[in-house]
Amino acid sequence: MEKNIPEIYGSLVFNDKVMRDKLPKDVYKALRKTISTNTHLELDVANAVAVAMKEWAIEHGATHFTHWFQPLTGYTAEKHDSFISPGDHGDITMDFSGKELVKGEPDASSFPSGGIRATFEARGYTNWDPTSPAFIKDGTLYIPTAFCSYSGEALDKKTPLLRSMEAISNEAVKILKLLGRDDVVGVTTTVGPEQEYFLIDEEDYKARKDLIFTGRTLLGAMPPKGQEMEDHYFGALKPRVAEFMHDLDEELWKLGIPAKTKHNEVAPCQHELAPVFDTTNVAVDRNQLTMEVMKTVAKKHGYVCLLHEKPFAGVNGSGKHNNWSISSTSGENLLDPGKTPDENIQFLVFLMAVISAVDDYADLLRLSVASAGNDHRLGANEAPPAIISIFLGDELTAVLDSIENDKFFDKKGKVKMEMGAKVLPHFFKDTTDRNRTSPFAFTGNKFEFRSLGSSFSVAGPNTVLNTAVAEELSKFYEELKDVPKAKLTSAVHDLLKKTIKDHKRVIFNGNGYTDEWVKEAKKRGLYNFRSTPDVLPQLVAKKNVELFKKHGIYSETELNARYEIMLENYCKTLHIEALTMQDMVVKQFLPSLLEYTEEIVNTAISKKTLSEALVTKTEEKQAATLSKLYSEIFDLAETLKKDTKKAEGMDDYLTLARFYHETVVEDMEKLRKVADEAELLLPDEFLPYPTYEKMLFYV
Ligand code: ADP
Ligand code: MG
Repeated sequence: MEKNIPEIYGSLVFNDKVMRDKLPKDVYKALRKTISTNTHLELDVANAVAVAMKEWAIEHGATHFTHWFQPLTGYTAEKHDSFISPGDHGDITMDFSGKELVKGEPDASSFPSGGIRATFEARGYTNWDPTSPAFIKDGTLYIPTAFCSYSGEALDKKTPLLRSMEAISNEAVKILKLLGRDDVVGVTTTVGPEQEYFLIDEEDYKARKDLIFTGRTLLGAMPPKGQEMEDHYFGALKPRVAEFMHDLDEELWKLGIPAKTKHNEVAPCQHELAPVFDTTNVAVDRNQLTMEVMKTVAKKHGYVCLLHEKPFAGVNGSGKHNNWSISSTSGENLLDPGKTPDENIQFLVFLMAVISAVDDYADLLRLSVASAGNDHRLGANEAPPAIISIFLGDELTAVLDSIENDKFFDKKGKVKMEMGAKVLPHFFKDTTDRNRTSPFAFTGNKFEFRSLGSSFSVAGPNTVLNTAVAEELSKFYEELKDVPKAKLTSAVHDLLKKTIKDHKRVIFNGNGYTDEWVKEAKKRGLYNFRSTPDVLPQLVAKKNVELFKKHGIYSETELNARYEIMLENYCKTLHIEALTMQDMVVKQFLPSLLEYTEEIVNTAISKKTLSEALVTKTEEKQAATLSKLYSEIFDLAETLKKDTKKAEGMDDYLTLARFYHETVVEDMEKLRKVADEAELLLPDEFLPYPTYEKMLFYV
């Protein structure tokens, strides 16, 4: 039977249409007002919404509700309560109050808080985010919420994100007013995250401890063929994968997630899904949900969905492209160059705010994508380099050049000397070329931040981006606010000119994978943080603490807490990886290697018993090679064990993180190199777990 997609789309979402149908008119209006202006919701309104939500949820088979939040674990959290409320006569009613909708009080003591709770209070609160729609999943009504401590410190990723959206809105409105745009009352940032992932067979997954415990393979030799033929990218979908994708789309559509594009990616078994963009906090929630749904749907198809940034060495890892723009409340894209000179000026102001934000806070942007997993990608010539720069394209670069050098820019893109007054150039939307090596690219009417890892929430990078741009807009406002109207255009021109001069060093249209760029970037004074432990201390650098405090995004306490949690997460991740690798090598790989060596030795012995004529040097040579590898691997595993033990005795997290990065990771790489060499000498039936070949080429 043909499915009616418009009918199933959003069928599990308490969206605007449902609200309009279900809520009394005045309640609907009050709720809409709360959503669009971000104001307080009265309890009687909340009660009425709760009743409608409960009825709708029960009609759709829900028995429970949960406040759904994003603690600093990087995952989402939920605790389900049923609607039932026992009556006096052994009966029950199904209840759900406005209070339960608006506020939850989960026991917060086991979520990471970076010491915040120790200093303050053990309780945590979840607060409804009415701007992100509630939905039903597996018989439970999910209510998106923010999560704070008793004393109001953010313990999650959503709270700072919402604060940053408010900050950029406030600053953008101020500057737009100056430019004569009294019609704009607020702006929202929009995000479209492109999500990459791998699919492998569930039975292979279950046979590998590294995948189970760490999400990535710690050992494994490359098969004769990898991704070098580039035959997987955009290749035809295999029927089983196509079925999975089809099912995934449908599940996402039911949840109101506008899944739009799907295709094979560069590495074998690697795929991508992109939705149509949304308001940032909604896009963040939906991306978290997308990742969860990917995993459950994969299971149904006998797959496991791997979201790790680097599941397989030797082929590309997975990232997430964060397409980002700013819209006015009336839906106008402020990063669209527009058609008239006035629209061009407005565009240039916002463009330069983004460019200077990226230049001034490149360290924070780099930090926002830092993780043990993403360290394998950034700077490894498969993902953008660790140096944050901006790709603008030739045309826009020429436009900026003309402003900086007082030249005239004509519509054909030709630059002539300017005659007379300061005139800002008039130009049209550029059909920007793509440059896959750039971490931050302008793509016509939005920026694409490409350094994100596949498994991480997109909340962090967008919090930084919104805040940094808010800061630059506020600086622009300070420069312009006292300029008389008649002189405004000229003042804007001067401001843009100065900003271009100050920040053009961050613009780079060339190939980001080359060594020349690394050298050039250093000359330009750009940051190059190569690893997570390198960049994490920037979170509490003075300029960054000031930025976040000024815009009300994080208090100093919150920043210190996050810094500690990020360091701790990094160390824990590597500790688990180190232990898993030792386990696999000692308990699985070395015994297999020994077994095969023994078989060869036994063959030689039995040959000899049978007849001296059968004896050749071959078995002896083979056994010697294997034995040598055996002892090398054994020694390297011992070194790894010794260094892991050493790490366990350290208590300063930054020192520990550096030790993991410099020593333990190095130990693991050395061990892996020799083990992979040995793996290639083992016959398939002697291998204790599925090989790369089996995992990547038989799906
Ligand atoms: P690519 O060619 O890089 O794969 P697409 O042009 O298909 O990218 O778009 C990628 C993403 O950008 C999609 O999720 C799309 O919805 C999103 N996008 C488009 N316009 C905007 C915007 N104004 N703000 C945020 N995201 C946007
Ligand atoms: Mg893209």
